[in-house]
Amino acid sequence: MSDEKIIKLESEWKKQLTPTQYEVLRQKATERPFTGEYVHHKADGTYTCAACGQELFGSDTKFDSGSGWPSFYDAIDKSKIELRSDHSHGMERVEVLCRRCGGHLGHVFPDGPKPTGQRYCINSASLDFKPQTKDGKPK
Ligand code: FE
Repeated sequence: MSDEKIIKLESEWKKQLTPTQYEVLRQKATERPFTGEYVHHKADGTYTCAACGQELFGSDTKFDSGSGWPSFYDAIDKSKIELRSDHSHGMERVEVLCRRCGGHLGHVFPDGPKPTGQRYCINSASLDFKPQTKDGKPK
């Protein structure tokens, strides 16, 4: 998959994504805690961007943060995500975006487990999941 950025009109994203995916990925909404499909998801595989398909997080870095959102202590590759300071809602947070399509994924907090100490708090609606096959390769 190329690293080229994907730029689409909002009307195109709206057509392609479900209403919930569109609200989260394009309008930076946050899904309600404990409602997303991947909160308690434990299968081995790769979490990809629901908008552009880029591989973002591996199940090997997923942990139960108790927050109600899928949580990872690292991204597959820092070049695949973008971090941006976010001052919205009266909070100082660091927003996590897909670098390829600019989709909003969630936020990252410095209270995660070892080895990184980071907690990537990601909306299920921003993710798709590719299960690992028996030979260990993603489908
Ligand atoms: Fe993306």
